[in-house]
Amino acid sequence: MSESTTPFENLRSQLETASSYVDVAPDVLDRLSHPERVLETNLTIERDDGTLERFPAFRSQFNGDRGPYKGGIRYHPDVTREEVVALSGWMTYKCALVDVPFGGGKGGIVVDPAALSTAELERLTRAYGTELRPLVGEDRDIPAPDVNTGPREMNWLKDTYETLEGTTAPGSFTGKALETGGSEGRVEATGRSTVIAAREAFEYLGRNLDDATVAVQGYGNAGWISAKLAAEAGATVVAVSDSRGAIVDRDGLDPIAVKEHKDETGSVVGFADAEPFADDALLTMDVDLLIPAALENAVDAELAADVQADVISEAANGPTTPAADEVLLENEVFYVPDILANAGGVVVSYYEWVQNRQRVSWSEERVNRELEETIVAAFDALVETLESIASDDPRTAAYVIAIDRVAAAAERNGTWP
Ligand code: GLU
Repeated sequence: MSESTTPFENLRSQLETASSYVDVAPDVLDRLSHPERVLETNLTIERDDGTLERFPAFRSQFNGDRGPYKGGIRYHPDVTREEVVALSGWMTYKCALVDVPFGGGKGGIVVDPAALSTAELERLTRAYGTELRPLVGEDRDIPAPDVNTGPREMNWLKDTYETLEGTTAPGSFTGKALETGGSEGRVEATGRSTVIAAREAFEYLGRNLDDATVAVQGYGNAGWISAKLAAEAGATVVAVSDSRGAIVDRDGLDPIAVKEHKDETGSVVGFADAEPFADDALLTMDVDLLIPAALENAVDAELAADVQADVISEAANGPTTPAADEVLLENEVFYVPDILANAGGVVVSYYEWVQNRQRVSWSEERVNRELEETIVAAFDALVETLESIASDDPRTAAYVIAIDRVAAAAERNGTWP
Protein backbone atom coordinates (compact mmCIF):
# COMPACT_ATOMS: atom_id res chain seq x y z
CA MET A 1 0.00 0.00 0.00
CA SER A 2 1.33 3.42 -0.90
CA GLU A 3 -0.53 5.11 1.88
CA SER A 4 -0.13 5.33 5.60
CA THR A 5 -3.42 6.82 6.81
CA THR A 6 -5.13 4.61 9.37
CA PRO A 7 -8.87 3.90 9.50
CA PHE A 8 -9.20 6.29 12.47
CA GLU A 9 -7.39 9.04 10.55
CA ASN A 10 -9.68 8.33 7.62
CA LEU A 11 -12.77 8.64 9.82
CA ARG A 12 -11.59 11.95 11.25
CA SER A 13 -10.78 13.30 7.83
CA GLN A 14 -14.25 12.29 6.55
CA LEU A 15 -15.88 14.07 9.52
CA GLU A 16 -13.68 17.13 9.08
CA THR A 17 -14.51 17.43 5.37
CA ALA A 18 -18.26 17.12 5.90
CA SER A 19 -18.33 19.40 8.95
CA SER A 20 -17.72 22.48 6.83
CA TYR A 21 -21.26 22.02 5.45
CA VAL A 22 -22.85 21.51 8.88
CA ASP A 23 -23.54 23.96 11.66
CA VAL A 24 -21.40 22.19 14.25
CA ALA A 25 -18.95 23.92 16.59
CA PRO A 26 -15.32 22.66 16.63
CA ASP A 27 -15.58 21.55 20.29
CA VAL A 28 -18.71 19.51 19.53
CA LEU A 29 -17.05 18.02 16.44
CA ASP A 30 -14.04 17.08 18.55
CA ARG A 31 -16.32 15.20 20.95
CA LEU A 32 -18.09 13.51 18.04
CA SER A 33 -14.74 12.40 16.57
CA HIS A 34 -13.61 10.38 19.59
CA PRO A 35 -15.01 7.33 21.39
CA GLU A 36 -16.76 7.73 24.72
CA ARG A 37 -14.98 4.66 26.10
CA VAL A 38 -12.97 1.64 24.99
CA LEU A 39 -12.71 -1.68 26.79
CA GLU A 40 -9.31 -3.28 26.35
CA THR A 41 -8.89 -6.74 27.77
CA ASN A 42 -6.81 -9.89 27.52
CA LEU A 43 -8.74 -13.12 27.18
CA THR A 44 -6.87 -16.19 28.33
CA ILE A 45 -8.30 -19.56 27.38
CA GLU A 46 -7.19 -23.15 27.65
CA ARG A 47 -6.31 -24.65 24.28
CA ASP A 48 -7.42 -28.23 23.57
CA ASP A 49 -3.86 -29.43 24.32
CA GLY A 50 -4.03 -28.00 27.86
CA THR A 51 -1.78 -24.96 27.26
CA LEU A 52 -2.99 -21.42 27.89
CA GLU A 53 -3.18 -18.75 25.24
CA ARG A 54 -3.88 -15.04 25.55
CA PHE A 55 -5.92 -13.04 23.02
CA PRO A 56 -6.19 -9.22 23.21
CA ALA A 57 -9.74 -7.96 22.71
CA PHE A 58 -11.57 -4.63 22.53
CA ARG A 59 -15.01 -3.04 22.57
CA SER A 60 -15.34 0.61 21.61
CA GLN A 61 -18.45 2.60 22.52
CA PHE A 62 -18.13 5.62 20.28
CA ASN A 63 -21.29 7.61 20.77
CA GLY A 64 -24.60 6.95 22.52
CA ASP A 65 -26.49 10.19 21.93
CA ARG A 66 -29.03 8.60 19.57
CA GLY A 67 -29.51 5.33 21.45
CA PRO A 68 -27.70 2.22 22.68
CA TYR A 69 -24.26 1.59 21.16
CA LYS A 70 -24.59 -0.77 18.19
CA GLY A 71 -22.11 -2.62 16.06
CA GLY A 72 -20.44 -5.89 15.24
CA ILE A 73 -17.61 -7.95 16.68
CA ARG A 74 -14.81 -9.12 14.39
CA TYR A 75 -12.34 -11.96 14.81
CA HIS A 76 -9.16 -11.23 12.85
CA PRO A 77 -5.40 -11.44 13.51
CA ASP A 78 -4.93 -7.79 12.40
CA VAL A 79 -7.54 -6.27 14.75
CA THR A 80 -6.20 -3.26 16.67
CA ARG A 81 -7.67 -0.93 19.24
CA GLU A 82 -7.49 1.97 16.80
CA GLU A 83 -9.21 0.00 14.05
CA VAL A 84 -12.07 -0.96 16.36
CA VAL A 85 -12.45 2.69 17.41
CA ALA A 86 -12.68 3.80 13.77
CA LEU A 87 -15.21 1.07 13.00
CA SER A 88 -17.31 2.16 16.01
CA GLY A 89 -17.26 5.72 14.70
CA TRP A 90 -18.45 4.59 11.29
CA MET A 91 -21.28 2.70 13.03
CA THR A 92 -22.37 5.91 14.78
CA TYR A 93 -22.75 7.77 11.50
CA LYS A 94 -24.20 4.77 9.68
CA CYS A 95 -27.01 4.41 12.23
CA ALA A 96 -27.69 8.16 12.00
CA LEU A 97 -27.74 8.14 8.19
CA VAL A 98 -30.35 5.38 7.95
CA ASP A 99 -32.07 6.81 11.02
CA VAL A 100 -32.18 3.79 13.31
CA PRO A 101 -32.27 4.78 17.01
CA PHE A 102 -28.79 3.56 17.89
CA GLY A 103 -25.38 4.97 18.61
CA GLY A 104 -22.19 3.32 17.43
CA GLY A 105 -19.97 0.60 18.84
CA LYS A 106 -17.61 -2.10 17.59
CA GLY A 107 -15.61 -4.94 19.08
CA GLY A 108 -12.86 -7.25 18.05
CA ILE A 109 -10.62 -10.07 19.17
CA VAL A 110 -7.07 -10.43 17.84
CA VAL A 111 -7.35 -14.02 16.64
CA ASP A 112 -7.21 -16.13 13.53
CA PRO A 113 -10.40 -18.14 14.04
CA ALA A 114 -9.33 -20.73 11.46
CA ALA A 115 -6.50 -21.75 13.81
CA LEU A 116 -8.88 -22.63 16.67
CA SER A 117 -11.15 -25.64 17.15
CA THR A 118 -14.88 -25.04 17.61
CA ALA A 119 -14.56 -25.77 21.35
CA GLU A 120 -11.68 -23.28 21.66
CA LEU A 121 -13.67 -20.64 19.77
CA GLU A 122 -16.60 -21.17 22.10
CA ARG A 123 -14.38 -20.74 25.18
CA LEU A 124 -12.85 -17.60 23.68
CA THR A 125 -16.25 -16.17 22.77
CA ARG A 126 -17.67 -16.87 26.22
CA ALA A 127 -14.57 -15.30 27.84
CA TYR A 128 -15.19 -12.20 25.74
CA GLY A 129 -18.88 -12.25 26.67
CA THR A 130 -17.93 -12.35 30.35
CA GLU A 131 -15.79 -9.21 29.93
CA LEU A 132 -18.57 -7.52 27.97
CA ARG A 133 -21.30 -8.29 30.50
CA PRO A 134 -21.24 -5.03 32.49
CA LEU A 135 -21.17 -2.94 29.30
CA VAL A 136 -23.81 -4.56 27.11
CA GLY A 137 -27.55 -5.19 27.24
CA GLU A 138 -30.72 -4.46 25.29
CA ASP A 139 -30.67 -0.78 26.24
CA ARG A 140 -26.89 -0.31 26.61
CA ASP A 141 -24.83 -1.79 23.83
CA ILE A 142 -26.00 -4.38 21.33
CA PRO A 143 -23.24 -6.30 19.50
CA ALA A 144 -23.75 -8.15 16.20
CA PRO A 145 -21.70 -10.16 13.70
CA ASP A 146 -18.84 -8.67 11.69
CA VAL A 147 -15.81 -10.15 9.90
CA ASN A 148 -15.49 -13.89 10.72
CA THR A 149 -18.41 -13.99 13.18
CA GLY A 150 -22.04 -14.99 12.67
CA PRO A 151 -25.10 -16.48 14.35
CA ARG A 152 -23.08 -19.14 16.17
CA GLU A 153 -20.92 -16.58 17.99
CA MET A 154 -23.93 -14.34 18.73
CA ASN A 155 -25.75 -17.26 20.31
CA TRP A 156 -22.76 -18.09 22.53
CA LEU A 157 -22.56 -14.43 23.59
CA LYS A 158 -26.28 -14.15 24.22
CA ASP A 159 -26.27 -17.34 26.26
CA THR A 160 -23.28 -16.17 28.30
CA TYR A 161 -24.96 -12.84 29.02
CA GLU A 162 -28.32 -14.39 29.91
CA THR A 163 -26.71 -17.01 32.14
CA LEU A 164 -24.62 -14.45 34.04
CA GLU A 165 -27.58 -12.06 34.37
CA GLY A 166 -30.09 -14.79 35.27
CA THR A 167 -32.59 -13.54 32.73
CA THR A 168 -33.62 -13.74 29.09
CA ALA A 169 -32.65 -10.79 26.91
CA PRO A 170 -32.68 -11.82 23.26
CA GLY A 171 -32.38 -8.18 22.14
CA SER A 172 -28.95 -7.87 23.76
CA PHE A 173 -27.28 -9.33 20.64
CA THR A 174 -28.48 -9.30 17.04
CA GLY A 175 -27.60 -11.57 14.15
CA LYS A 176 -28.66 -14.64 16.16
CA ALA A 177 -29.92 -17.91 14.73
CA LEU A 178 -33.60 -17.91 13.74
CA GLU A 179 -34.54 -20.45 16.43
CA THR A 180 -33.40 -18.08 19.18
CA GLY A 181 -34.82 -14.71 18.19
CA GLY A 182 -32.84 -14.11 15.03
CA SER A 183 -34.62 -12.25 12.23
CA GLU A 184 -35.59 -13.45 8.81
CA GLY A 185 -33.41 -11.68 6.26
CA ARG A 186 -30.62 -10.70 8.67
CA VAL A 187 -27.92 -12.92 7.17
CA GLU A 188 -28.58 -11.53 3.69
CA ALA A 189 -29.16 -7.91 4.78
CA THR A 190 -25.68 -6.43 4.22
CA GLY A 191 -25.37 -7.84 0.71
CA ARG A 192 -28.97 -6.89 -0.02
CA SER A 193 -28.45 -3.21 0.82
CA THR A 194 -25.18 -3.18 -1.12
CA VAL A 195 -27.02 -4.30 -4.25
CA ILE A 196 -30.05 -2.03 -3.66
CA ALA A 197 -27.63 0.91 -3.29
CA ALA A 198 -25.80 -0.08 -6.47
CA ARG A 199 -29.10 -0.34 -8.35
CA GLU A 200 -30.09 3.15 -7.17
CA ALA A 201 -26.69 4.52 -8.20
CA PHE A 202 -27.02 3.08 -11.71
CA GLU A 203 -30.52 4.53 -11.97
CA TYR A 204 -29.21 7.92 -10.81
CA LEU A 205 -26.64 7.76 -13.60
CA GLY A 206 -29.35 6.84 -16.12
CA ARG A 207 -28.14 3.28 -16.43
CA ASN A 208 -29.25 -0.22 -15.44
CA LEU A 209 -27.77 -2.69 -13.01
CA ASP A 210 -29.16 -5.58 -15.02
CA ASP A 211 -26.71 -5.15 -17.88
CA ALA A 212 -23.72 -4.39 -15.65
CA THR A 213 -20.60 -6.48 -15.17
CA VAL A 214 -19.52 -6.86 -11.54
CA ALA A 215 -16.35 -7.65 -9.58
CA VAL A 216 -16.56 -8.51 -5.88
CA GLN A 217 -13.53 -8.34 -3.56
CA GLY A 218 -14.09 -10.64 -0.56
CA TYR A 219 -16.33 -13.71 -0.41
CA GLY A 220 -17.45 -13.65 3.21
CA ASN A 221 -21.08 -13.08 4.10
CA ALA A 222 -21.34 -9.56 2.64
CA GLY A 223 -19.37 -10.34 -0.52
CA TRP A 224 -20.99 -13.61 -1.48
CA ILE A 225 -24.54 -12.40 -0.87
CA SER A 226 -23.80 -9.25 -2.89
CA ALA A 227 -22.58 -11.44 -5.75
CA LYS A 228 -25.64 -13.69 -5.51
CA LEU A 229 -28.15 -10.83 -5.42
CA ALA A 230 -26.37 -8.89 -8.19
CA ALA A 231 -26.61 -12.00 -10.39
CA GLU A 232 -30.27 -12.42 -9.42
CA ALA A 233 -30.84 -8.81 -10.49
CA GLY A 234 -29.52 -9.73 -13.94
CA ALA A 235 -25.96 -8.43 -13.64
CA THR A 236 -22.98 -10.57 -14.71
CA VAL A 237 -20.53 -11.35 -11.92
CA VAL A 238 -17.22 -11.72 -13.74
CA ALA A 239 -14.73 -11.84 -10.87
CA VAL A 240 -14.65 -12.59 -7.15
CA SER A 241 -11.85 -12.99 -4.62
CA ASP A 242 -11.01 -13.94 -1.07
CA SER A 243 -7.87 -13.67 1.06
CA ARG A 244 -6.19 -16.44 -0.98
CA GLY A 245 -6.72 -14.97 -4.46
CA ALA A 246 -9.18 -14.09 -7.19
CA ILE A 247 -10.97 -15.89 -10.02
CA VAL A 248 -12.37 -14.49 -13.25
CA ASP A 249 -14.78 -15.67 -15.91
CA ARG A 250 -15.80 -13.03 -18.42
CA ASP A 251 -18.89 -15.09 -19.34
CA GLY A 252 -20.13 -14.87 -15.78
CA LEU A 253 -19.61 -16.89 -12.62
CA ASP A 254 -22.39 -18.73 -10.80
CA PRO A 255 -22.10 -17.18 -7.29
CA ILE A 256 -23.88 -20.11 -5.61
CA ALA A 257 -21.56 -22.68 -7.21
CA VAL A 258 -18.55 -20.56 -6.19
CA LYS A 259 -19.87 -20.45 -2.61
CA GLU A 260 -20.27 -24.23 -2.58
CA HIS A 261 -16.67 -24.55 -3.80
CA LYS A 262 -15.48 -22.20 -1.06
CA ASP A 263 -17.42 -24.12 1.62
CA GLU A 264 -15.81 -27.36 0.44
CA THR A 265 -12.24 -26.16 -0.08
CA GLY A 266 -11.92 -23.03 2.06
CA SER A 267 -11.39 -20.68 -0.89
CA VAL A 268 -12.87 -19.44 -4.16
CA VAL A 269 -9.49 -20.23 -5.75
CA GLY A 270 -9.52 -23.46 -7.74
CA PHE A 271 -13.14 -23.06 -8.86
CA ALA A 272 -13.51 -25.00 -12.13
CA ASP A 273 -13.89 -23.08 -15.39
CA ALA A 274 -12.50 -19.85 -13.94
CA GLU A 275 -9.05 -18.36 -14.33
CA PRO A 276 -7.03 -17.42 -11.23
CA PHE A 277 -5.46 -13.95 -11.00
CA ALA A 278 -4.19 -11.35 -8.51
CA ASP A 279 -6.58 -9.76 -6.02
CA ASP A 280 -5.30 -6.22 -6.76
CA ALA A 281 -6.05 -6.78 -10.43
CA LEU A 282 -9.69 -7.45 -9.51
CA LEU A 283 -10.07 -3.94 -8.10
CA THR A 284 -8.85 -2.35 -11.32
CA MET A 285 -10.70 -4.63 -13.74
CA ASP A 286 -12.75 -3.23 -16.58
CA VAL A 287 -16.20 -3.77 -15.03
CA ASP A 288 -19.24 -1.53 -14.51
CA LEU A 289 -19.66 -2.19 -10.79
CA LEU A 290 -17.01 -2.83 -8.16
CA ILE A 291 -18.03 -4.18 -4.75
CA PRO A 292 -15.23 -4.09 -2.18
CA ALA A 293 -16.42 -6.50 0.52
CA ALA A 294 -13.23 -7.24 2.44
CA LEU A 295 -11.29 -4.93 4.78
CA GLU A 296 -10.34 -1.27 5.21
CA ASN A 297 -8.00 0.64 2.86
CA ALA A 298 -8.46 -1.75 -0.07
CA VAL A 299 -8.57 1.21 -2.45
CA ASP A 300 -5.85 3.82 -1.84
CA ALA A 301 -5.00 6.81 -4.03
CA GLU A 302 -2.53 4.89 -6.18
CA LEU A 303 -4.93 2.05 -6.87
CA ALA A 304 -7.87 4.46 -7.32
CA ALA A 305 -6.12 5.99 -10.33
CA ASP A 306 -6.47 2.62 -12.09
CA VAL A 307 -10.07 1.84 -11.11
CA GLN A 308 -12.11 1.32 -14.27
CA ALA A 309 -15.52 0.67 -12.71
CA ASP A 310 -18.17 3.38 -13.09
CA VAL A 311 -19.88 2.60 -9.78
CA ILE A 312 -18.52 1.35 -6.46
CA SER A 313 -20.87 0.05 -3.79
CA GLU A 314 -18.99 -0.41 -0.53
CA ALA A 315 -20.01 -3.60 1.26
CA ALA A 316 -16.92 -3.43 3.48
CA ASN A 317 -16.38 -0.78 6.14
CA GLY A 318 -13.80 1.83 5.21
CA PRO A 319 -12.52 0.22 1.97
CA THR A 320 -11.65 3.57 0.35
CA THR A 321 -9.23 6.14 1.79
CA PRO A 322 -9.97 9.90 1.66
CA ALA A 323 -7.08 10.39 -0.78
CA ALA A 324 -8.59 7.69 -3.01
CA ASP A 325 -11.97 9.44 -2.87
CA GLU A 326 -10.39 12.53 -4.43
CA VAL A 327 -8.95 10.49 -7.29
CA LEU A 328 -12.22 8.63 -7.88
CA LEU A 329 -14.19 11.89 -7.98
CA GLU A 330 -11.74 13.35 -10.47
CA ASN A 331 -12.23 10.28 -12.65
CA GLU A 332 -16.02 10.48 -12.26
CA VAL A 333 -16.43 7.19 -10.48
CA PHE A 334 -19.67 7.25 -8.47
CA TYR A 335 -19.26 5.54 -5.10
CA VAL A 336 -21.98 4.67 -2.63
CA PRO A 337 -20.29 5.09 0.75
CA ASP A 338 -20.09 2.18 3.16
CA ILE A 339 -22.32 3.88 5.74
CA LEU A 340 -25.16 3.66 3.23
CA ALA A 341 -24.29 0.68 1.03
CA ASN A 342 -23.67 -1.81 3.84
CA ALA A 343 -26.20 -0.34 6.29
CA GLY A 344 -28.63 -3.19 5.60
CA GLY A 345 -26.91 -5.25 8.29
CA VAL A 346 -27.61 -2.82 11.08
CA VAL A 347 -31.03 -1.88 9.71
CA VAL A 348 -32.18 -5.50 9.93
CA SER A 349 -30.42 -5.77 13.30
CA TYR A 350 -32.73 -2.97 14.38
CA TYR A 351 -35.73 -4.94 13.10
CA GLU A 352 -34.43 -7.99 14.99
CA TRP A 353 -34.12 -5.93 18.19
CA VAL A 354 -37.64 -4.53 17.76
CA GLN A 355 -39.03 -8.06 17.25
CA ASN A 356 -37.13 -9.31 20.31
CA ARG A 357 -38.40 -6.47 22.51
CA GLN A 358 -41.98 -7.16 21.41
CA ARG A 359 -41.56 -10.97 21.37
CA VAL A 360 -42.95 -11.12 17.83
CA SER A 361 -41.48 -12.22 14.51
CA TRP A 362 -41.82 -10.60 11.11
CA SER A 363 -42.02 -12.35 7.74
CA GLU A 364 -39.03 -12.24 5.42
CA GLU A 365 -41.22 -10.33 2.98
CA ARG A 366 -41.83 -7.58 5.56
CA VAL A 367 -38.14 -7.38 6.55
CA ASN A 368 -37.01 -7.07 2.94
CA ARG A 369 -39.72 -4.56 2.07
CA GLU A 370 -38.89 -2.29 5.01
CA LEU A 371 -35.16 -2.62 4.31
CA GLU A 372 -35.71 -1.69 0.67
CA GLU A 373 -37.73 1.41 1.67
CA THR A 374 -35.10 2.49 4.19
CA ILE A 375 -32.14 2.17 1.81
CA VAL A 376 -33.96 3.86 -1.08
CA ALA A 377 -35.02 6.74 1.20
CA ALA A 378 -31.44 7.15 2.45
CA PHE A 379 -30.12 7.12 -1.12
CA ASP A 380 -32.68 9.76 -2.16
CA ALA A 381 -31.72 11.92 0.83
CA LEU A 382 -28.06 11.56 -0.13
CA VAL A 383 -28.76 12.73 -3.70
CA GLU A 384 -30.82 15.65 -2.41
CA THR A 385 -27.98 16.64 -0.09
CA LEU A 386 -25.43 16.37 -2.90
CA GLU A 387 -27.49 18.97 -4.74
CA SER A 388 -28.13 21.21 -1.73
CA ILE A 389 -24.44 21.40 -0.80
CA ALA A 390 -23.42 21.61 -4.49
CA SER A 391 -20.93 18.78 -4.10
CA ASP A 392 -20.10 15.76 -6.22
CA ASP A 393 -18.89 13.70 -3.25
CA PRO A 394 -21.47 11.11 -2.08
CA ARG A 395 -19.45 10.36 1.07
CA THR A 396 -19.46 13.98 2.16
CA ALA A 397 -23.21 14.20 1.51
CA ALA A 398 -23.78 11.09 3.64
CA TYR A 399 -21.72 12.53 6.51
CA VAL A 400 -23.48 15.90 6.27
CA ILE A 401 -26.81 14.16 6.96
CA ALA A 402 -25.34 11.91 9.66
CA ILE A 403 -23.29 14.53 11.54
CA ASP A 404 -26.27 16.84 11.59
CA ARG A 405 -28.37 14.15 13.30
CA VAL A 406 -25.73 13.08 15.82
CA ALA A 407 -24.83 16.69 16.67
CA ALA A 408 -28.50 17.60 17.12
CA ALA A 409 -28.98 14.68 19.52
CA ALA A 410 -25.79 15.56 21.40
CA GLU A 411 -26.95 19.14 21.74
CA ARG A 412 -30.40 18.12 22.99
CA ASN A 413 -28.86 15.77 25.52
CA GLY A 414 -26.48 18.43 26.78
CA THR A 415 -23.27 17.80 28.67
CA TRP A 416 -23.18 16.48 32.18
CA PRO A 417 -21.59 16.89 34.70
N1 GLU B 1 -21.10 -5.48 11.45
C1 GLU B 1 -22.14 -4.88 10.69
C2 GLU B 1 -21.76 -3.48 10.26
O1 GLU B 1 -20.59 -3.17 10.17
C3 GLU B 1 -23.51 -4.97 11.38
C4 GLU B 1 -23.62 -4.25 12.68
C5 GLU B 1 -24.93 -4.50 13.42
O2 GLU B 1 -25.80 -5.15 12.92
O3 GLU B 1 -25.01 -4.00 14.55
O4 GLU B 1 -22.58 -2.68 9.94
